[in-house]
Amino acid sequence: MIRRVSLLLTTFAVVLVLLASDSSAAEKLKLLIVDGQNNHNWKATTPVLKAFLEKSGRFTVTVATSPARNGKEADWAKFRPDFAANDVVLSNYNGQLWPKPVQASLEKYVTGGGGLVIVHAANNAFPQWGEWNKMIGLGWRGAGYGERVTLDKAGKTVRTAKGKGPGAGHGPQHPFSVVVRDRRHPVMAGIPAEWMHFRDELYHGQRGPALNMHILATAFSAKAKRGTGVHEPMVWWIPYGKGKVFTTVMGHADYSMKCVGFQTIVSRGAEWSATGKVTLAVPKTFPSAEETSVAGE
Ligand code: ZN
Repeated sequence: MIRRVSLLLTTFAVVLVLLASDSSAAEKLKLLIVDGQNNHNWKATTPVLKAFLEKSGRFTVTVATSPARNGKEADWAKFRPDFAANDVVLSNYNGQLWPKPVQASLEKYVTGGGGLVIVHAANNAFPQWGEWNKMIGLGWRGAGYGERVTLDKAGKTVRTAKGKGPGAGHGPQHPFSVVVRDRRHPVMAGIPAEWMHFRDELYHGQRGPALNMHILATAFSAKAKRGTGVHEPMVWWIPYGKGKVFTTVMGHADYSMKCVGFQTIVSRGAEWSATGKVTLAVPKTFPSAEETSVAGE
């Protein structure tokens, strides 16, 4: 009898713990931004990323800044971001290859279920790091590096072989229309099927292994804007071990990142890659098919 009561109590305790962990879904997620080197103005863009992620109310944000290019070896030896202490890592880094222990630590973190978000030129980084290239799927590489993935007029995925067609590039910056390709995905649910992104670079010809790639949004790369005449991937995700890697090639500059569409997709993408769920709402100020929308200060 005593045993039965204690079993009942144990069951009751387990239920309580489950209920408690469910209500903790509203607790803040720990998000780590990595920066320190980039061919873009990371000193201007990291504060924009940090501000809108914090403003969402869903994240506490810390920043790990690497040593500068050709920094002292002693400084690199101290650069050991604690990925595992975070729910999601966002890379705003494009520069020297990280030391081996940092690479191994990121691989272990994502394999174990950690979330990773790649913004714009972060996908230009590390062509020589094989596992990184599997995580991002497509990166800013020459045509000879790997396959290319685009969508045709009917929305069908087209894979172009290594060495064929254009490599990475972009035309002049302009506002452009983004087409959502998976409206059932939690990040895209409730987002207009087509919306105008504020002034940005429209990346084309990205190359890589592109394995298990789930394309969530594309943009038409117009030849009139020195583009390719096909739909190029703008947002995608790739499973890596138990983790999820969420990439957007949008976000060239601080002003591009002020687009409400960009901010919504990066915030929701970060939440989803960390938890597999999205609780962040689509704001009323989200861009429409005709009009861009820039967040106020
Ligand atoms: Zn750029």
